[in-house]
Amino acid sequence: MKKLSLKLKLTLLYTFFMLLLTCAALAILFSLSSRELLASTQAKLEHRVQESVDDLRLKAGKLEVDSDFYSVVRDVYLSVYSDDMYFLYGKVPYGFNRQPEVADGRTRTIEEGGQKWYVYDLSFRLSEDHTVYVRGITSLTDAEENFIVTLRLALVLLPLMVLATAVIGYRFTRRTLLPVRKMTDTVNEIRSDADLSRRIGLAEDGKAREGSGDEICRLAQTFDGMLEELEEVFRRERQFTSDVSHELRTPVSVILAQCGACLSDPFLPEKHREQILLIQRKAKNMSDMISQLLFLSRADQGRQPLVREKLDLSVLTEMTVEEQQLLADDAGKKITIRCEAGEEIFAEADETLYIRLLINLISNAAEYGREEGTVTVTLREENGEVIGEVRDDGMGISERDLSHIFERFYRGDSARTGGGHSGLGLSMVKWIAEAHGGWVKADSILGEGSVFTFGFPAEQEKN
Ligand code: ADP
Repeated sequence: MKKLSLKLKLTLLYTFFMLLLTCAALAILFSLSSRELLASTQAKLEHRVQESVDDLRLKAGKLEVDSDFYSVVRDVYLSVYSDDMYFLYGKVPYGFNRQPEVADGRTRTIEEGGQKWYVYDLSFRLSEDHTVYVRGITSLTDAEENFIVTLRLALVLLPLMVLATAVIGYRFTRRTLLPVRKMTDTVNEIRSDADLSRRIGLAEDGKAREGSGDEICRLAQTFDGMLEELEEVFRRERQFTSDVSHELRTPVSVILAQCGACLSDPFLPEKHREQILLIQRKAKNMSDMISQLLFLSRADQGRQPLVREKLDLSVLTEMTVEEQQLLADDAGKKITIRCEAGEEIFAEADETLYIRLLINLISNAAEYGREEGTVTVTLREENGEVIGEVRDDGMGISERDLSHIFERFYRGDSARTGGGHSGLGLSMVKWIAEAHGGWVKADSILGEGSVFTFGFPAEQEKN
């Protein structure tokens, strides 16, 4: 299952708490309110009955009742009965047809006509020998219905409130986490372009700062500071590599020149000749490595020139393959290098760099290929792209190595023992392909061989 994003998690969290809180508040409110409702209805009834006795008086031995007694105040119906419960005056609510027994000073709940009623009787002495009962009746069902309406309203409002919390919460969290997204994007850009000069730049971005809060802003600033330091470290490292390579170039050239001079001496003893040949070979390896280092450090500093011109890559590839075959023969390698280049494939490219790319790939294929094996170089045009392939039937590359071989100084297990390898050849190939607006990739099956494929835009006009 896909992992939930942080903003969704936060939104769900406080929506859940909001739901919990609202439900709890509603439950407490409901239980308190229903008790409160019964108590207040009863108090209202009793109070109304008690105050109504002021409307009753005895005049010339006859009971007189004020008109107020007849009006239904606060939903309480009043009626007056003689001491033998004979109805004298007043109103009884519609639907209440019973004549319950008198219970002086006590409120009772009576069910009648499908409704619940509160009934309260109060005896009142009009004179020495005249006592009447005042009866108050109020509908409990009506009061409960009012309460249920309020409750229903709350039940409709509750989901709306939770929904509003979720929407507002989501928008708020998204806004708060916006700088975090910016940080992630910047890091991803740095990773894909290897461009350490990029910054998150939240401090300058007033809008983001407003929405983010200071902690995130400070984190972004710390991050920018770290990038600054990293960039400086890399810059110094590149400078160091470039300086060291320059410094080493002269002594290595001198060593090579001296080796050459010594070897040209016909009286040089055979033992010394062998020793000097070894020195010359090692110095040559060192010189190659220095050239590669200088090339890459110039590329890093944007100082590696790219002299592009229209080239017939078919011819150039065939020539390079032939040269590499001769070199392999001279070195005593029993390997066949075949060229299967389509005709008239043109591109705007740097001749020296294109040859360098091919040499690096072919020499690797020859180096890591099978003894008496075959290296096949193919070139074709496909969808406006020049596609080149260098295939060998050698030892292949393990899956673990395959993802690293284009990194600088990376050498696979296969290369551990061989001399003259710097682990820079494929880095150069990658740089050259990309500098031409192209790409390079490697596929391999361990024990069966490898295929290095590169591509870059072809030149459509062939004249
Ligand atoms: P190196 O100087 O070590 O050849 P490269 O950058 O040219 O450096 O290659 C990096 C590593 O990739 C090599 O050490 C080797 O392990 C592996 N590699 C390159 N080409 C091949 C190939 N054709 N077959 C097998 N392994 C290869």
